[in-house]
Formats: sequence, C-alpha cells, structure tokens
Amino acid sequence: MAGDGSVKLIDEKTGKRTDGRKFNELRPTKIEVGVLNNADGSALIYMGNNKILAAVYGPRELHPKHLALPDRALVQCYYRMSTFSVAERKSPAPSRREREISKVISDALNSVILTKDFPRTTIDIYIQVLQADGGTRCASLTAACTALADAGIPMRGIISGVATGLVNDTVVLDLHDIEDQKGSGDIPIGYSATLDEISLLQLDGVFTIKQFEEAVKLAIEGAKQIYEIQKKALREKYALIRAEFAGESEEEEAEEEDTIEIVSQSLAESEASVDETAIDEVESEELEEKKTEEFSEVEEVSEVEEVSEVEEQDLVSDIAKELNDELDDEKELEEDITSLETGEPEKNNEAITDDSSESVENETEHKEIDDLEE
Ligand code: UDP
Repeated sequence: MAGDGSVKLIDEKTGKRTDGRKFNELRPTKIEVGVLNNADGSALIYMGNNKILAAVYGPRELHPKHLALPDRALVQCYYRMSTFSVAERKSPAPSRREREISKVISDALNSVILTKDFPRTTIDIYIQVLQADGGTRCASLTAACTALADAGIPMRGIISGVATGLVNDTVVLDLHDIEDQKGSGDIPIGYSATLDEISLLQLDGVFTIKQFEEAVKLAIEGAKQIYEIQKKALREKYALIRAEFAGESEEEEAEEEDTIEIVSQSLAESEASVDETAIDEVESEELEEKKTEEFSEVEEVSEVEEVSEVEEQDLVSDIAKELNDELDDEKELEEDITSLETGEPEKNNEAITDDSSESVENETEHKEIDDLEE
C-alpha cells in the first residue's frame, strides 16, 4: 500500500535513493535455475534483499478432476510468504493478499504458456517467499516464469516482472520495501521482452498520465534487463548440463578405450596361454608316448626274462628226466644180467637187496637232481 510521499527517500543533491541507487537502477539481481531436485523446474531469485523460490510441477493429472479444462491445461499458482520472510512474523494462513498475488501471477503466466498442448492437465507453480523486501510479486513472477522454462514447459515468451513507483514525485525503478511502503504509488508490471507484451499491470496510488507512461517505459527497460538475467541463468544451467554430458561422453569414451585395451590384452594373454597349453599338450603327449614306449620295452624285457626263466626250468627238467631214464635203463640192464647168471629168485632177492642198496644210491642221486632243479 502506497504512502503519502511525504518521507524523503531521494537525496536532492545526488538524486540517489536510500539504498544508493539511481532512479532507473535495478537492485542487484541474480537467478539460479534447477535448484530443486524433486521439481520439474525451479528457480531461485535474489533481487536486492528478496529471496524467492519457485517450483514447477507438471503438466500433470489434475485433482479434483472436475476442475480440469477440456481444451487446455489449468495453470495454478500458489504464492506464499514464509512466516520468517518479514520483520514481523507473518501468519502461516494464506492471506487475501497472497491469494490475490497467486491469481495475478497465474493469469500472467497463462498468457504465455501453450496450455492447449496439454488439455485436462494442471501446471502447478509453487512460490515461496523466503525473504521479503518489497516488489515480491514481480520477483515471484520472474522466478516462476524462469522455473517454467527450466521445466521445459512450452511458452510463447518469457515474462520478466518489475515494479516502478512514485517516490518524492520521481518515477523510480524497482521499489524496495521502504519505497513501496512510503512512496506515493507503485506499478508492478509483467513484461515479455520477446513478445513486447505486458501481461501484468497493477497500479496503487495516483499517477499523472505522463508519470504513468514514464513508469511503464521505465518498467519495460528494467524488464528487458531482467530478461537478460533470466536467459543467462538458463544458459548457465544448460551449459552445465552440456559440460556434464560432454564429460560423461569423454568418460564413456575413456572407459570404452580402457575396455578395448583390457579386452585386447586378455585376448593376447589367452592366445599366449593357448600356445603354451598347446606346447605343454604336445610335450605331455610326447612324454606319454615316451613313457608308453619305455613301459612296453620294460614289458618286453620282463617277458623275455620270464621266457628265459621258463626255458631254464624246462631245460633242468629235461636233464633230470634224461638222467632218470639213464638210471632206469642201467637198473634194468643189471637186473637182466643178474637173472641170467643165477636164474634164482633169492638172487633176485639179493639182486633186489643189491637193487635196494643201489636204489639208495639212486635215491641220493634223485635227491641231488631235485636240489639241482630247485
Ligand atoms: N509485507 C509485510 N508483511 C506482509 C505482507 C507484506 O511485511 O504480510 C511487506 C513485504 O516486504 C512486501 C511489502 O510489504 O514486499 C509490500 O507488499 P505488497 O503487497 O505491496 O507486494 P509486493 O510489493 O511485495 O509485491
């Protein structure tokens, strides 16, 4: 709510404002994109002492379903000030002001989002003011639109928000809290530099037409500068993604090269081991053959030895047989001679007796032969 403009907020000599800015100077502004992992798109804006976070989800299914629009997506914005965002604790319950700001931001974004591409869906934009210092609706609009771009939501253009106001009868750009409270009027504007369209325009206080035109012109200049900051933030994010992708590709290439090297090394090793195995196999085969030959030789020798043993035994038994035969012949001859000389059976007995004495001798001879055989 604008004041009566009685508080001196611009130095008459220097023309500088309470924070040292010139009338057409923006507060130091910085935007970070993709700050939330769990949102489809996000942006954090620092505009002077304002710190505002915007998160985008969607297009996604809408609940309750009866709210769904048959021909386009519903854009729903939720602007909330944190209880700790202002000097005096703010109630966590959504205020009328918060609902109003949510609506004007939704309407502004609705004008650039290609909602007809996503019928029956919702695109939800959550805006959380972490620290407030005047001009939060404009900074929120800038953050929200940047988050939508980060989410990849198709849009006709990017909206940049900034307010101009009347301070000590001077039109100034980008009001901070004290100027917003004590100045005589403010005009928050949402402007798309690419479309040259104003999608949000509010007015609080009283402006002459000249002042109004001057204020709008100044706001457009400021919005164009903010648009450059938005583009820079988005480009930085995508440059990072590209760098990461390139890094990953390089890593992948390096990994592929390593894999190829490892595979070729292992191939070479396996080839070498195959050669060695082949050599070993050949050697072992040769060894086996050698062993078999030696073994067969040993077997042959043992067979020969066995044969010679058998032959020796046969020879001994032949000799013994021959000796026995000779003895038997001798004995028969002697018996015949004795029976021819005596013609008596006693003689036969004597002969028998003699024979028995001789048979003792024969037995001794037999025994000797047996020993020999053994
Ligand atoms: N403000 C506050 N408490 C509130 C609402 C607003 O202190 O509950 C402050 C806050 O710093 C805000 C400023 O008042 O930026 C002006 O609020 P306004 O409604 O004009 O919206 P804004 O200028 O932030 O877009």
